[in-house]
Amino acid sequence: MNLHEYQGKEMLASFGVRIQRGIVATTPAEAVAAAKKLTEETGTGWHVIKAQVHAGGRGKGGGVKLAKSLEQVEEIAGQIIGMNLVTPQTSAEGKKVHQVLIAEDVYYPGDNEPEEYYMSVLLNRSTGRNMIMYSTEGGMDIETVAEETPHLIFTEEINPATGLLPFQTRKIAFNLGLSGTAFKEMTKFVASLYKAYVSTDSSLFEINPVLKTSDDKIMAVDSKVSLDENALFRHKDLAALRDEREENAVEVEAKAVGLNYVDLDGNVGCMVNGAGLAMATMDLIKQAGGEPANFLDVGGTADAERVEIAFDLILKDPNVKAILVNIFGGIVRCDRVAQGIVDAYKNMGNIEVPIIVRLQGTNADIAKELIDNSGLDVQSAVEFQEAADKVQAVLA
Ligand code: GDP
Ligand code: MN
Repeated sequence: MNLHEYQGKEMLASFGVRIQRGIVATTPAEAVAAAKKLTEETGTGWHVIKAQVHAGGRGKGGGVKLAKSLEQVEEIAGQIIGMNLVTPQTSAEGKKVHQVLIAEDVYYPGDNEPEEYYMSVLLNRSTGRNMIMYSTEGGMDIETVAEETPHLIFTEEINPATGLLPFQTRKIAFNLGLSGTAFKEMTKFVASLYKAYVSTDSSLFEINPVLKTSDDKIMAVDSKVSLDENALFRHKDLAALRDEREENAVEVEAKAVGLNYVDLDGNVGCMVNGAGLAMATMDLIKQAGGEPANFLDVGGTADAERVEIAFDLILKDPNVKAILVNIFGGIVRCDRVAQGIVDAYKNMGNIEVPIIVRLQGTNADIAKELIDNSGLDVQSAVEFQEAADKVQAVLA
């Protein structure tokens, strides 16, 4: 689950991470009130107006703008709230902006030029350890930095037995070329950031940019926080921050009925039981030249009702041109699943795409007969490859 920038920043601040301060607003009037309040608290006269959507690259898409007066705050907030923000990380339709963050301008002039760094905290899956990834090249896509100047990306792995050690925070500050106050600030920043990451059971933090202000303060100007869904049960306060408007509508609906559904870009809908078989099915579809439209694990009880709910979810995606049902009947009998498919098909009455069904396991032969004699646009397959080939044939 992802947080909005403003939610991530508030969470980070609660762990002692210095942040660019801001107040969220849903109307231009609220934006002006927020700007006035920030001016009282921080003395800043300039503000940045930042679209709050779950996508990066907002600056490039016109979703981050500097306002030098209250009139400009009102005007820019009016432009950004309600707009469909298109960034390199959204679809072509973009994302509707429901709220903006009014933040203090932290790029004020001073003794030194402000400097931008990149920092993320994530799990290195090959070593099984958390790591901090950081770079002097902040403010731009880390993918570009990785491609063009990979030597400017550093990583620091954390031993879970000791946690992040002081020598490591100093090494990071040193590699970023800092000294004096900024060096000390950075060691504190990194330590608090890592504490926040571990304490919230997060799976990714990306702070781009981390800013060194002209007066040597180190702060988070942006925040991308992804929380581990499996740990949310012990973070009720964070779970409450979910913004379903930002999530895929079908995924939200699937979750509500206890189905594991992930939306993908292809045109072959998949209904499978078991995550492993679902992954294998998606691989096979790809090998046969197709593209899966979704991942869907219907779980152990594939009865008519559940099959109907699953068909319904799959068909909400207008790109779906065929459905592949691949179910292994271990505990659940194949003939029951087959009957479920036939019943659901008839009940729904609006299925217009061909369906290929592969049922293997207990009573698979009875199931095949049921499908073959149903008189519906449902084809049966016995072998895995045969199923994939039949999907390709109906798409051709
Ligand atoms: P992103 O484009 O979605 O990654 O959004 P960011 O929060 O990273 O903001 C984009 C860019 O806006 C940053 O890289 C900065 O260059 C700029 N920016 C952010 N805050 C300020 C600010 O307080 N003052 C000024 N002048 N620019 C800012
Ligand atoms: Mn950013």
